[in-house]
Amino acid sequence: TGVPSTPAPRAVLAGIPAYVPKPPAPPAEGPSHRLFLNENPYPPLPSVRKTIAQAAAQTNYYPTIHPERLTDALARRLDVPPEHLVTGPGSVGIYQQIGQALLEPGDEVVYAWPSFEAYPIVARMAGAVPVEVPLVDGVHDLDAMASAITPRTKAVFLCEPNNPTGTAVGTAELERFLDRVPGDVLIVLDEAYFEFYRSPNAPDGAELYRDRPNLVTLRTFSKAYGLAGLRVGYGVAQPAIAEALRKCAVPCGVGRLAEEAALTALRVEAELFERVERIVAERERMREALLGLGWEVLPSATNFLWLPTGEASESVAQEWERRGLLVRAFPGSGLRVTVGSPEANDLLITAAKEISPPAR
Ligand code: PMP
Repeated sequence: TGVPSTPAPRAVLAGIPAYVPKPPAPPAEGPSHRLFLNENPYPPLPSVRKTIAQAAAQTNYYPTIHPERLTDALARRLDVPPEHLVTGPGSVGIYQQIGQALLEPGDEVVYAWPSFEAYPIVARMAGAVPVEVPLVDGVHDLDAMASAITPRTKAVFLCEPNNPTGTAVGTAELERFLDRVPGDVLIVLDEAYFEFYRSPNAPDGAELYRDRPNLVTLRTFSKAYGLAGLRVGYGVAQPAIAEALRKCAVPCGVGRLAEEAALTALRVEAELFERVERIVAERERMREALLGLGWEVLPSATNFLWLPTGEASESVAQEWERRGLLVRAFPGSGLRVTVGSPEANDLLITAAKEISPPAR
């Protein structure tokens, strides 16, 4: 009596970390460049902005429960039936649907580490047990991941190419792994960076899922399509899984502006993919330059680079931050640097000349 009480949040929340620990601080003066969230450096095309402006006149109306026109456009684009699609407010939204649709307390979720930071959050939120399999030299150890699967495993999250290391595995290697995963284990193939993986060896999850009822492939409009601020992601899976995921979607979770912008982005995809080509070329130019300056840089199939700078990661990040280059430090491990505009990339290379690379 007299002691104020509050409703107790679920106990599992206590163990859940903040999504991004601490965004880098821009300098007090001068321009700064956001190189810490793997965003697309190019602003939306005029055609996309026009659609958004037009749709803005109808924001007093709800969108449909699921974005049906976008679903149909994606179905045509991927040559799959619309029932195989699920959409959400970014692919992180679909991860929450996955947690709700499939995970129960005590289930095990296998994923590589380090990888996308949403994975431990999604697993813990559901009361499931995260099983982390270390990368080897920044690359997925698929044998170890297959061996980590037990009768309690409910899902495997595979980030391909991997965030934060940018590395990727090829189709044959991936297929061998997929074939080893038991049918009652859901495989989430996270292809957020699919469009930047330019190799004849690159897996295509929208093909691989066709004869695999336990596979869901996730993609997003946030990276290659440059719509991170509007939140649209999608998944493709056989109908049983797709339907379960649709049931767990937040109703009207993809807003009108987001749906219209994504529809236009699909229509002008060729123009957007020219930008992707430029980002890929810049990625290779940056990597060569940094390697030439004595920095260690992993090969990348994404729109970012990983520098395994170990204990020096935070101090190097601070040097770059002072120059307005806001990169993501993983303390004790490395730096993740998004490929930015050519101007930002030049600044980063110049700064890399002024700071000596950490001793290996
Ligand atoms: N998956 C991976 C591997 C990512 O790196 C990201 C974004 N950082 C996402 C999913 C989420 O993207 P979004 O929610 O914007 O679609």
